[in-house]
Amino acid sequence: MSVSTEARPATGESSRIVFRRVLLKLSGEALMGDRPYGIDQARVESIAEELVSVQQQGLEIALVIGAGNIVRGMEAAAAGMDRATADYAGMLATVLNSLSVQDALERRGAQTRVQSAITVAEVAEPYIRRRAIRHLEKGRIVIFAAGTGNPFFTTDTAAALRALEIGAEAILMAKNRTRGVFDGDPREDPHAEFLPELTHLEAIERGLKVMDTTALSLCMENGLPIHVFELADGNIRRVVAGERVGTIISTPKTQGAAR
Ligand code: UDP
Repeated sequence: MSVSTEARPATGESSRIVFRRVLLKLSGEALMGDRPYGIDQARVESIAEELVSVQQQGLEIALVIGAGNIVRGMEAAAAGMDRATADYAGMLATVLNSLSVQDALERRGAQTRVQSAITVAEVAEPYIRRRAIRHLEKGRIVIFAAGTGNPFFTTDTAAALRALEIGAEAILMAKNRTRGVFDGDPREDPHAEFLPELTHLEAIERGLKVMDTTALSLCMENGLPIHVFELADGNIRRVVAGERVGTIISTPKTQGAAR
């Protein structure tokens, strides 16, 4: 499919963007800000502000949003709930988060579509890959809700899967209060070392807490780079402008990447 620029706002600033199409993964916690639970509206507004501004520079953006701010299947299962049911609840919670972000984006004039992996026809389109790509080409921000649609998976895996399906050049992982990947948990270990660069295999082998292993393997096998950075004001703009922010996880082509 060709890239149409017709519906794109012409700002003349596209030279400041080094990517054509990216997938941004926002964890549920990223929407929580400093609250203990749920959605911090001010945080959603500031994310939307930044996303609209980079999209207006000609970047095609798809989003996958988690739900750790509302329900995590594994935690609910540990408290006694049936795991698959808890996971479906988690997926539905990503729909809530997606609608909040959609609303904030549209109030700023962006065109958006939510595509859900679980049928919720009254509020979102079903996930249809070719349609999602067409929306992106038309300058719409596409939000992929309900993860992969399957229990026992995570929204990280959904992010890797959708990024590959739509031909995104990178996954941008915006984290809450963590500036990238460390060799330990910096919130618990003050000596944890920040890692500016690593390969997918290193992240898997060292068990670093970036993404779950399924998601990392999918990215590794397909040579999809991951930029991990703190969701602080201006960071999305910096990453898409090619600035070194946070950690870059990639696999050199000589190490057998498929892309
Ligand atoms: N989930 C699922 N399948 C998916 C994606 C998500 O079952 O494909 C469920 C799972 O219970 C998960 C919850 O939805 O804990 C919220 O997603 P996730 O934990 O990935 O959110 P994040 O940590 O990014 O906020």
